[in-house]
Amino acid sequence: MDTPRHAIVIGAGIVGICCAIELRRRGLQVTVVDRLEPGQGCSFGNAGILAAQAVVPIGLPGLARQLPRMLFDGSNPLTLRAGSLPHSLPWLWRLQQASSIDRVMRIADAMKALYGSTLLRHQALAAEAGTPELVRATPGLYVHRRAAGIDLQHGLAWRLRQQRGAQVELLEGAALREAEPALSADYVRGVRMGPMGCCVNPLRLVQAYAALLQRMGGTLRRAEVNALQPGADGVQLHIGAEALQADAVVVAAGAWSGHLLRPLGLKLPLIAERGYHLTYGDSGIRLNHVVTDIEAHFAVTDMEMGLRVAGTEELGVADDAPDWRRAEALQRHAQRLFPTARLQQGSRWMGPRPGLPDSLPAIGAVPGQSCIFVATGHGHLGLTGAPHTGQLVAELVIGTRPSLSLDAYAPGRFAG
Ligand SMILES: Cc1cc2nc3c(=O)[nH]c(=O)nc-3n(C[C@H](O)[C@H](O)[C@H](O)COP(=O)(O)OP(=O)(O)OC[C@H]3O[C@@H](n4cnc5c(N)ncnc54)[C@H](O)[C@@H]3O)c2cc1C
Repeated sequence: MDTPRHAIVIGAGIVGICCAIELRRRGLQVTVVDRLEPGQGCSFGNAGILAAQAVVPIGLPGLARQLPRMLFDGSNPLTLRAGSLPHSLPWLWRLQQASSIDRVMRIADAMKALYGSTLLRHQALAAEAGTPELVRATPGLYVHRRAAGIDLQHGLAWRLRQQRGAQVELLEGAALREAEPALSADYVRGVRMGPMGCCVNPLRLVQAYAALLQRMGGTLRRAEVNALQPGADGVQLHIGAEALQADAVVVAAGAWSGHLLRPLGLKLPLIAERGYHLTYGDSGIRLNHVVTDIEAHFAVTDMEMGLRVAGTEELGVADDAPDWRRAEALQRHAQRLFPTARLQQGSRWMGPRPGLPDSLPAIGAVPGQSCIFVATGHGHLGLTGAPHTGQLVAELVIGTRPSLSLDAYAPGRFAG
């Protein structure tokens, strides 16, 4: 392939916009096509965590024993949408396959390599975009109601993190209360972890990065891409009756990427890991950390719009109607965590995380296609991984050797 001159990125979420910025930085003419305005997909409402210490995949040893209870207990943080079994079962089978200790160790290394530099990367990008205030170096506080619920020495998740450089500090009693004064006294043990950070307005961050792209000379186009057709001189994108031509295309269409990739022969086991948030403009409390309730699997972030409570993992289809009972459960859990907070009036939202069963994204060329690239499947960590993914994709598109081995993220790794 000759060095491409014009690249089209499909998807103006955080991943697509970061890919576009890095392509433009390397001198390509870049167009981002999205049916919506930037940041209106899953990137709209995440918890904002820049999870530099995220090395723990969803599937851990012992998963097979826990799955039946998880799947049939609607109050569990991981649940299946009614009717989504045929879609979800093959994904769960692959999740189980990825949960052996050997696989977990390798996945943890690949997560660290991709996500470990997130804070520095976002700090640099946000400064370049003129919005440095959106990214903060904020530690995480992971809390539990039972002391036995946190075992820094023997718990696999804690060992994985510490072995890969996480700095942890155990807090109990008065020290825990001092760290986070609004925390309920029912929570007896916590771990402060860093270095990591948070974005205090994920939508505004995507918008700021999109504006930066435009200032750099990139273009945004509002349209739905129906199909991709590779040819001798690049790729045609079908947009209704119109066709756009590009030398290279990056599919960063989040949980919706599958239908563009399947006709090209790439069957990614991509599922919508649907999550919910509630945002309270007038909670009456402020936080010093991003606080995660380990037991109920949700996080609370102090954002510029107020307190955001985000979590749950509902396997299903991206565009199915939200099940607001999941958001109501989040509200009850958050009130248990912060009893004095005013959590009655909040805005609510559901977003589909683009999830692959081994908790790693797909970054690379579509097998057999030299001009079509994939950047999706970041699941719970798309905000965290977007800047590094953008750099790696841009290196691939211009044909230079990627600065990180991409084997672990190969889009074709699920074949067979
Ligand atoms: C509740 C919740 C909390 C989260 N918390 C965190 C967190 O704290 N930290 C973190 O790192 N991550 C978090 N995430 C995950 C993160 O939000 C996602 O991984 C990330 O937003 C995915 O970005 P994306 O660009 O791949 O997808 P999206 O943001 O979904 O963007 C995809 C875009 O593609 C467009 N598109 C799709 N198909 C087409 C088409 N055919 N034609 C044109 N356009 C198309 C869509 O309109 C959309 O705008 C959270 C997610 C949820 C739901």
